[in-house]
Amino acid sequence: MSQKLLCKLQPLFSPETVDGNHGRRLKERMGKNGKGCAIGIDLGTTYSCVAVWLEQHGRVEIIHNDQGNKITPSFVAFTDDQRLIGDAAKNQAATNPENTVFDAKRLIGRKYSEPIIKNDMMLWPFKVIAGDNDKPMIVVKYHGKEKHLFVEEISSMVLTKMREIAEAYLESPVKNAVITVPAYFNDSQRKATIDAGVIAGLNVMRIINEPTAAAIAYGLDKRTNCKKKRNIFIFDLGGGTFDVSLLTIKGKEFKVQATAGNTHLGGEDFDSRMVEYFVEEFRRKSKLDISENPKALRRLRSACERAKRTLSWTTCTTVEVDCLFQGIDFCSSITRSRFEELNMDLFEECMETVDRCLNDAKIDKCKVHDVVLVGGSSRIPKVKELLDDFFKGKSLCKSINPDEAVAYGAAVQAALLSKGIKNVPDLVLYDVTPLSLGICIKGDIMSVVIPRNTTIPVKKTYCYTTSADNQSSVLIEVYEGERARASDNNLLGSFDLFGLPPAPRGHPFDVCFAIDENGILCVSAKEKTTGSKNEITITNDKGRLSAHEIKKFIQEAESFRAEDKKFLRKANAMNSLNDYIYKMKKALKNDYINSKLSSEEKEKISSAITKATSLLDGGNNKPGEIEVLEDYAKELKIMFEPIVGKIDLFFSFY
Ligand code: ADP
Ligand code: MG
Repeated sequence: MSQKLLCKLQPLFSPETVDGNHGRRLKERMGKNGKGCAIGIDLGTTYSCVAVWLEQHGRVEIIHNDQGNKITPSFVAFTDDQRLIGDAAKNQAATNPENTVFDAKRLIGRKYSEPIIKNDMMLWPFKVIAGDNDKPMIVVKYHGKEKHLFVEEISSMVLTKMREIAEAYLESPVKNAVITVPAYFNDSQRKATIDAGVIAGLNVMRIINEPTAAAIAYGLDKRTNCKKKRNIFIFDLGGGTFDVSLLTIKGKEFKVQATAGNTHLGGEDFDSRMVEYFVEEFRRKSKLDISENPKALRRLRSACERAKRTLSWTTCTTVEVDCLFQGIDFCSSITRSRFEELNMDLFEECMETVDRCLNDAKIDKCKVHDVVLVGGSSRIPKVKELLDDFFKGKSLCKSINPDEAVAYGAAVQAALLSKGIKNVPDLVLYDVTPLSLGICIKGDIMSVVIPRNTTIPVKKTYCYTTSADNQSSVLIEVYEGERARASDNNLLGSFDLFGLPPAPRGHPFDVCFAIDENGILCVSAKEKTTGSKNEITITNDKGRLSAHEIKKFIQEAESFRAEDKKFLRKANAMNSLNDYIYKMKKALKNDYINSKLSSEEKEKISSAITKATSLLDGGNNKPGEIEVLEDYAKELKIMFEPIVGKIDLFFSFY
């Protein structure tokens, strides 16, 4: 139902999508303006998507961006003049690779020294350096100056763009949003995503897992005839992440039973394999190595991504890049089977993850009722074939548009969390913890308090004992991860429980782990006889932005917005002057108009053209330049109103 509904109610790109009329018509249809609407944002590694619940119609609308596209590249670019976000940023990536930032989601909430980032950095054309507390910082050149940006700032720019897309459509400010993250995002990645939302001026109502969101979208279809429990398997293979989830739907209830995934597997990896293949071919054919040339690599990568998409519906395609390197054109072809060969180990890795997820959920694959495909890369025929084989020919469910399902579900969740929104499907959602959580006990052993895949919110209390006589305090170190040795896992934070009474070793105290709906963990410890207590909310102090930093970035985001506006104002002023020059030049060349103008008027026009041209050519960045341009455009308007009237009249006839 979902895809049909989406197609029927959302026309493809049409002029009304980009002008304000669509929003007005929507408002009319909604019977109220979009004020107070809560949106759902799928903040993807490669593409993002925004959706809203239309109360009046009881359905979700996927919102088009200003280019008429339902998905927006998660790209941000910086130039000497301006900052670009989305399609505009991606479109100029090949010519400005060092200052075009993408894949921020791979970096968010991570440390610079993590080996996984080192591998990524080799492929990124933009520069990443280590900041304070090992936080990665992105280095770009903006307005001719070097600028260091936190990853949260980059993601906040993408989120701002998504908010603005929704605002333009609804013609009203939007504040509340549900944002999705991959199921395997850890605590610090989730928190960093919330921080990015705050910097973007959003009230992040909830962070939900992408497969869960997709399941919500899917569940909307099926729940009406879902009397018995159904096991649904969600397979989400996107651009940068891979998530699988097994969930059950019974009546109105969705329950995630297990999740598995790989935060570093997706379409970009398939692109990289093809890039490596053609770099080698170019080396063989031309004896030149382009592997150190970011611009050539970026252009080759774009061509490879296009070829990969084409290979999803055809069996052979060409890859052409003019002047790839040192003026040499590159032209080659690739078959679907070669593409599959290059990526077979990655596809098989996907299937191993599928198997692991089912094992975790202790569900045999024959008990899976539906297999749902989500994410752009789930369109790859070999992936579908392997899944088909794995599930022994069970037909794969593709009724949900793979690009939109996640935002769709997030919008439903946003409406559910909004007060007073009527007509929202009444569903209960349960999510699970992505990783096991526990504390370090004697011998560097990980003592798991909350095993992974436990339904949240959850609260669990375990009793531990002291390991030495007369121990007056105990250090509680909180870890996440699946390794038996605590120090092999990720340390989330630590605190001391002081004030233990003098006692032989083995004295008991309680440790309580509580996780809220967003997956945010609070750990407390208490000694019963004295009542001594201590607790921490795991804020990942070292990795997370401070309140002060967030405030600073909110202000910075404002100044970015102001600069964007200034740039647009200048561009508009230049355009209107250009427009005058064009019309006047054309008028002077036209015999008919010439005959209608007095020689004084012609003189006026010629000198105005000269002045306007010199203003446009006059050096950039002059103080007050925008005002000068705007003032002259206004002056021209008044001065030439009668003449322009004659010219316009002429143009309207011819
Ligand atoms: P993410 O959520 O990770 O940003 P998406 O679900 O939007 O990713 O999927 C983007 C990925 O899907 C990109 O790598 C893109 O190249 C790939 N993709 C899109 N369409 C196709 C297709 N027809 N065949 C193969 N891959 C595709
Ligand atoms: Mg996605």
